[in-house]
Amino acid sequence: MTSDFLADFGQMSAFGATPGGGVERQAASAADGENRAWFGSWLVDNGFTLRTDAVGNIFGLIETVPGAPYVVVGSHLDSQPLAGRYDGAYGVLAGAHAARATAAAIAAGDAEPRFNLAVVDWFNEEGSRFKPSMMGSAVFTGMLPLDTALATTDPSGTTVAEALDAIDGRGTFDGLDVAAYLEVHVEQGRELEDTGTTIGLVSTTWTAHKLEVVVTGEQSHTGAARMADRKDALHGAAELIVAARRLIDGFEPEQLHTAVSEMYLDPNSPVAIAREVRMLVDIRSPERATLETAVERLRERMSEIEQLAKVDIEIVKVVEWSSGPFLEEGILLAAAEAERLGYTHRRSATVAGHDATNMKERVPTVMLFVPSVDGISHNEREFTSDADMLAGVEVLTAVLGRVVAGDLSAAEAPAAPLSSDAS
Ligand SMILES: [Zn+2]
Repeated sequence: MTSDFLADFGQMSAFGATPGGGVERQAASAADGENRAWFGSWLVDNGFTLRTDAVGNIFGLIETVPGAPYVVVGSHLDSQPLAGRYDGAYGVLAGAHAARATAAAIAAGDAEPRFNLAVVDWFNEEGSRFKPSMMGSAVFTGMLPLDTALATTDPSGTTVAEALDAIDGRGTFDGLDVAAYLEVHVEQGRELEDTGTTIGLVSTTWTAHKLEVVVTGEQSHTGAARMADRKDALHGAAELIVAARRLIDGFEPEQLHTAVSEMYLDPNSPVAIAREVRMLVDIRSPERATLETAVERLRERMSEIEQLAKVDIEIVKVVEWSSGPFLEEGILLAAAEAERLGYTHRRSATVAGHDATNMKERVPTVMLFVPSVDGISHNEREFTSDADMLAGVEVLTAVLGRVVAGDLSAAEAPAAPLSSDAS
């Protein structure tokens, strides 16, 4: 089974491959579409029933307990621009192999399931082409209206609906009750590597605010306009970039992460002062109070920059992810399986957002990490060893087997099984 996994992962990594050894498969791009089609065929060839929902999430289903809810396992196939091959894609394929192995054990009479099996590729986890990130799982969990997601445009004005239609990526599936959710992902940090640990048991997630900011100035001549008269939106944006970076100075090391990650300016002409800059400020912390203090300080700094650069600065949208713990029972179950299989393990906090971050708000959720060499991610040089990938598949398969058998008691009687009717 294991070398089979590596062969499949090698095939998947060819879609959207970049010269530097990474991939570029932004959501609903042609390369994402080709990879999704390959994955769909893989699911069908391996005995899964293939279904796609209205926001482009792909499900592979195996029903062995008629009418029972599903244990869903997966991640996302889309990528950042010029990205690594492991982020998301590893977790989807690992989930598919884990589900296939579990189904085989059930078919052989070696396991007694209480729940059915589903593999998922969540649409647009990365949020690089269409904001916000974690879109497919947000629609599935009812955190984002379907219509809002479908009407979201990329920088060229193409909607999610149009982009999905271009890769034949929209379906009508809407009937999945979820008992529990499992995901394995590369760590994208360096804690596991630094501590010589193979399996991370994700126990908590950082909180994040993504601020969409518009800086408004006035277009004028770069040469002729008097310096004193200028209202340079790009000058204001530059001050804001520095302010966001310097925000961390007031906090303990690694208690605050900040970045300005995206920027568009108009008119973007060599001889015109910018009249408008739209930018995204990304602020994260393990502590909500720290994050709120940081955002407050940034707002104060924005007022000062308005005076300094003679611009208006407006926060037009804030997307928030709440922090919080993962299910303790799931962490303990995963720890026991990692231990039994002989792998080192430790609790991890996730700084990055994941579909599991959305799912854990709705259903019992277990998330595992495997090491990322040098903590590099969203980069072609992202790397996880074959041995670590296989260890992750093995532990995920073991955890899936137990959760499907009903060993995660919280999963036996979810308060309200999640139904994916996109409301
Ligand atoms: Zn990811």
